[in-house]
Amino acid sequence: LPKDFTQARPVLQRVEQAGFQAYFVGGSVRDTILGDHIHDVDIASSAYPQEIKSLFHRTVDTGIEHGTVMVLYHGRGYEITTFRTESGYQDYRRPDHVTFVRSLSEDLKRRDFTINAFAMRENGDVTDLFHGMDDIKKRLIRAVGDPNQRFNEDALRMMRAVRFASKLNFRIEPKTLAAIKKHSPLLKKIAVERIHSEFVKMMLGQAPKVGLLQMLKTNLYQFVPVFNRYFHDLNQILSIPNLKLDNEDQVWALIAYMFDDRKKQINQLLKAWKSSNEVIRNVNLIILALNRMKSNQLDAMTMFKVGYDALCDANHIADMLGFGMSHQQIKDDYQSLPITSRNQLKINGKILIKDHILKPGPMLGKVLNTIESNVINGKVANDKAKLIQLAQKMSGMNK
Ligand code: ATP
Ligand code: MG
Repeated sequence: LPKDFTQARPVLQRVEQAGFQAYFVGGSVRDTILGDHIHDVDIASSAYPQEIKSLFHRTVDTGIEHGTVMVLYHGRGYEITTFRTESGYQDYRRPDHVTFVRSLSEDLKRRDFTINAFAMRENGDVTDLFHGMDDIKKRLIRAVGDPNQRFNEDALRMMRAVRFASKLNFRIEPKTLAAIKKHSPLLKKIAVERIHSEFVKMMLGQAPKVGLLQMLKTNLYQFVPVFNRYFHDLNQILSIPNLKLDNEDQVWALIAYMFDDRKKQINQLLKAWKSSNEVIRNVNLIILALNRMKSNQLDAMTMFKVGYDALCDANHIADMLGFGMSHQQIKDDYQSLPITSRNQLKINGKILIKDHILKPGPMLGKVLNTIESNVINGKVANDKAKLIQLAQKMSGMNK
């Protein structure tokens, strides 16, 4: 068993010794069976939150109303969630009530897919009520129970299906797929933030084209923000060889680049998806770099504005689209910039004011901008005396 499990073992043993059940559940069990890396372990227990709290010295109420308590043990935090059922799904969204139960099988029944419904004891024994092992062997995403009912309960599960298909490079089992196609419009009921999170994970999976193809085939794409009008461009993405994305900025930059290159439209797309301001900023930089790379006009000023990280992201995308440069080339070009940020200029506003070359005001900003671009373009050396001379000349010209 991976170290994350063995480290957590005493926690589960403590719960079991007190007469309750405790299991590892969710993605970590699935990924271990698949032989993949795991990032966090989830624990489920028949003990109620108050009972968990009474068993451990140090706990944090991280989500006690949903039944989750964090146990601090040997410098790590373990989330233990009480077995629960969910009832009263209205609005095709999260359930109105969660009910704590003592039965493991009730808890596993509410889970989305057979491969996500394993439970594993601290000794490694696996409970597999829904033949998840068979589906792992067949590489299938299959809903637990009746897929139509399960997607009616929570429409986000349809996005999760395409997400896991991409993450694992699995197919979606035919009845589950048919149910997605039938119920795809229910996705409209789901908060954009939750769709966003599953979509990005899908695009970052090992088989993003599998996920995207299923979004197109099932019509899910019509019920997420903006995509409705871009069937053709989304379809284009399917013909990119070696599509592999490394981070969220790349995901949105690729999509924005395929859709349109007008800044206003890009920002509308990203805002509709409720992207963070940081993502919006980075995507615009990546698109700027991409457009310049495409037309062979990646100059020093563009590299300076875009910055190294966005430049590498742009080059990664350009590479997939057939107009990238070597990574070493990008690195060398960037490193040969005279400056990579304004504070590397050998002069600044303070110096110009102190030396009585310019007074505070808009003129000062203009002069600094011009000096900065002259340095970046290599028209003048980044040398204090030379830059002061240039500033003097410019201030004289404007008097
Ligand atoms: P990841 O490795 O990406 O974290 P995961 O399987 O752990 O994958 P989570 O979103 O962290 O996915 O959810 C943990 C578990 O909770 C799932 O494995 C599944 O059993 C259950 N689950 C999560 N969301 C839902 C949902 N919308 N409907 C039913 N069960 C769900
Ligand atoms: Mg998880």
